[in-house]
Amino acid sequence: MEAIVNHIKYTLSHSTFYSAKKSEFASVYNDNFTVKDFQKLPFTTKDEFSLNNDLFLAVDKNKVAEYSTTSGTSGTPVTVYLTKKDLNRLAKNEYDSLKLMGFTSKDIFQLMTTIDKQFMAGLAYYLGVQKLNAGIIRVGPGVIESQLKSILTYQPTALIAVPSFIISLINYAKQNAIDLNQTSVKSIVCIGEPIRKQDFSLNILGDKITSEWNVELFSTYASTEIGVAFSECKMHQGNHVNDDLAFVEVINETSDQPVKEGEIGEIVVTPLKTTGTPLIRYKTGDLAKAYYKKCACGKTSLRIGPIVGRKNQMIKFRGTTIYPNAIFDVLENFPEIQLYKVEISKDEFENDQIRILISTQNELLINDLNKKLKSKLKVTPQISFVEKEKLYNLVHTSKSRKPCKIEFI
Ligand SMILES: [Zn+2]
Repeated sequence: MEAIVNHIKYTLSHSTFYSAKKSEFASVYNDNFTVKDFQKLPFTTKDEFSLNNDLFLAVDKNKVAEYSTTSGTSGTPVTVYLTKKDLNRLAKNEYDSLKLMGFTSKDIFQLMTTIDKQFMAGLAYYLGVQKLNAGIIRVGPGVIESQLKSILTYQPTALIAVPSFIISLINYAKQNAIDLNQTSVKSIVCIGEPIRKQDFSLNILGDKITSEWNVELFSTYASTEIGVAFSECKMHQGNHVNDDLAFVEVINETSDQPVKEGEIGEIVVTPLKTTGTPLIRYKTGDLAKAYYKKCACGKTSLRIGPIVGRKNQMIKFRGTTIYPNAIFDVLENFPEIQLYKVEISKDEFENDQIRILISTQNELLINDLNKKLKSKLKVTPQISFVEKEKLYNLVHTSKSRKPCKIEFI
C-alpha cells in the first residue's frame, strides 16, 4: 500500500492533469487509506490521456530521456514521456519478466521487432536483456532472409517476435530446406498477439508454430501507457502481474468492481514508480479473465488470461456479443486464407454489420467458411472478394505498426 500511496502523492503534486483533480483524491491523505479507498478513486480513460496528452507530463522537459509513442483513440499518436528513472524501471520490468520465463545471462536473444520509431517494446526488451547480462542481436522487424542468417550465424537461444511473423519464417525455412529444429533457438517471447486460448492451450497461431518447430512459446501482455509487460512463467497459466511495478485491477464493465476468479473484466493499471508520465487507475480497454489463486510456480501475484478483446471492439450482432479474436480464430483455421480483413459498420438501425474481405473467389471455400462461422459464432457475415494487392494495402496501413485485421467504419 505504501508504494501505491507514494505513487498517488507524487502524481498529484507533479502532474498538471491530476493536480487539477486533487479534491477527488482527498482520501489518500487519510492515514488509514486502504485498497477499498483506492477502488473509489477516479479512473483515467484513454480518451482523457489522448486529449490532454501534455498535461500528463510530470517533470521538466529537460528531464525527459525518451519520447515513446502509442496510437491514441483518435488515431493521432500519444506520447509517453520517460525519465532516466523510468528507463531503469522499464529495464527492471523486462529483467523480472525474462527471469520468470527462466532465462539467464547465458541466453542470447534475437530481437525481431523495431527498437526505433519511438516504439517502447523493442527498447524495453533491449534494456531488460542488458540488465540480465545476456546478449542481444538487434535484427529488427521483417527481412526473413536476414533473420534466418542471423540465427545460423550467432545461434541465439531465444527470439523476441510478433508470432504471426514466425509463421513466415517457418514457411521460408521450409522452402529453403532449412530445418529450424536443428537451430539453437529454444524459445520465443511472443509480443503483440495472443497465442493461447482461454483454457491456456495454444490457439491456432501458437499451434501452427509449435507443430513445425519444437520451441517453448511465452505469451506477454503490455501497453506503452503503463510501461510494464506481464509475462507467463514456465507453467503457462496466465500472465503474471509484476506487483512491485504495477497495481492491477480487473473490473466488471458495469459495476466497476473487481471481477471474481476466472471472470472477464477490463484491465485497469496503476503503473507504480513512474515519474515522467504517471497514471492512476488507467483503463486499458483490454478485456481478460483474472486469476487470483496461487500459480503452480508458487507466485501469488494476480494473473491475467489471454486477451478476450478490446472494450471498444466488442461487436453487438443480433443480440449477441462477439469479440474480433473469435472471428480471427475461424479465419486462421483456413490455411488457404493467407490474408483477410474484418470490417464492422453500422446499419440504418445502429446494428453492427460484419463484412469479411478475402482475396479468394473459391466457392467451396467460401461455403465452408460460412458454415464454420455459423457453427462457431452463430453469425453469417457478408464475405467480399478484394484483389490480393489491394487487400494487402488495407491490412498493412501506415496508421499502425501491427497488421490492421479489423476496422470499425
Ligand atoms: Zn506462475
